Amino acid sequence: MNEEKTTRALYERSLSTLVGGVNSPVRAGSQPYPEFVERGEGARVVDVDGNRYLDYVMGYGPLLLGHDLPDPVRDAVDTAVDAGPMYGLSTDLEVELAEFITDHVPSVERLRFVNSGTEATAAAVRLARGATDRDKIVVMRGGYHGGHESFLVEGDAERPRPGSAGVPEAFAEQTIPVPFNDETALADAFERHGDEIAAVITEPLLGNNGIVRPVDGFHDTVRTLCDEYGALFVLDEVITGFRVGGLSCAQGKYDIEPDLTTFAKIVGGGFPVGAIGGRASVMEEFTPTGEVFESGTFNGHPVAMAAGLATLEYAEENDVYEHVNALGDRLRTGLSEIVADHAPEYAVVGTDSIFKLLFTRDEPADRPDTYPRDGSDVDAGDTERWQRLFRPAMKERGILLPPNQFESQFVSDAHTEADVERTLEAYKDVLA
Ligand code: PLP
Repeated sequence: MNEEKTTRALYERSLSTLVGGVNSPVRAGSQPYPEFVERGEGARVVDVDGNRYLDYVMGYGPLLLGHDLPDPVRDAVDTAVDAGPMYGLSTDLEVELAEFITDHVPSVERLRFVNSGTEATAAAVRLARGATDRDKIVVMRGGYHGGHESFLVEGDAERPRPGSAGVPEAFAEQTIPVPFNDETALADAFERHGDEIAAVITEPLLGNNGIVRPVDGFHDTVRTLCDEYGALFVLDEVITGFRVGGLSCAQGKYDIEPDLTTFAKIVGGGFPVGAIGGRASVMEEFTPTGEVFESGTFNGHPVAMAAGLATLEYAEENDVYEHVNALGDRLRTGLSEIVADHAPEYAVVGTDSIFKLLFTRDEPADRPDTYPRDGSDVDAGDTERWQRLFRPAMKERGILLPPNQFESQFVSDAHTEADVERTLEAYKDVLA
């Protein structure tokens, strides 16, 4: 078979075998075709047509170190692969990765490794329901926890409704969406349904429909209300874990004390992973010590464990967080200056090594310091303009941004100061 390997040819072929030509719908947002990547090189990806792009998708977050694995990470991965891809039995690697995480994240005493962020959040919610013997969960509007029935819910606290075809009304009825950063709405939800709420699940900051940082005291209020009503506080650190706040994660940075935390992305060093961690007394409700079923053929996959452990050790031993956070700061400062001159109607958001430009700045006069405050502030963005004009114009200048305006953009250890200056030049050029 000598099929043509151009983006266009591959996309046309893929339409006959893959749903919509892609394996995750966000990828189809790229116009006119989804990117087909041939390889990564440091901070760049090279597509099958030979174009090189400075990459801010970075696998949607897992690639803290960039596309090239540093020697210790590559060696760890090679060793794991050489020993056989997987066994469905335990290895030393999962114990070591669990020890690394419990050593650095004080709220985590026990862990269960799974295979994706979605699996982790779904299992965390089942655990909370099992541990409390209650059914309802509170989620944040505009938050994202993966494609699972309990989270694909829209509407508000009193009128939740399925957020996708295929989600039964009966599931949606058990989910209470409230706006992020809204302590009053959260307190109302507890007042109405307090004895039915198993858990509040929230990201430390909204990263998928973001970037929305927590207002001072919001997570303290979650903690207090959960304690008062006997619910569990589940913190979804799938994006932020081992990125925002470095090795202590966003819970260290913002001083949050959850009962359970979900991880994924960086914890697998670029290989599929998820994890649920938390207080021993709650975690041990999982089988085999408890009654809440959780199981998986690939759980604790040795290659993912090896890559995750080596990545985190590399980050600890080298100045990875100093580097990526300094570049993140420079990008946000530089972008803010460009926006002030050329696009004052837009807002620059982010923290640590995540950043992006919101295509809106609908900043209410009474709270300019806390803008954006929730998912609806982000949703107000001019998606059409971003998708049809801005992203393609950046791509023409060699800068690859996520195909969906709402996603965070990620800086890796492989990005350089020169890359950042080039990126700012491109933003300036396009916005001017
Ligand atoms: N939780 C958050 C905060 C996420 O950002 C994501 C994915 O981006 C998920 C959960 C789902 O993770 P996965 O895509 O690995 O299933």
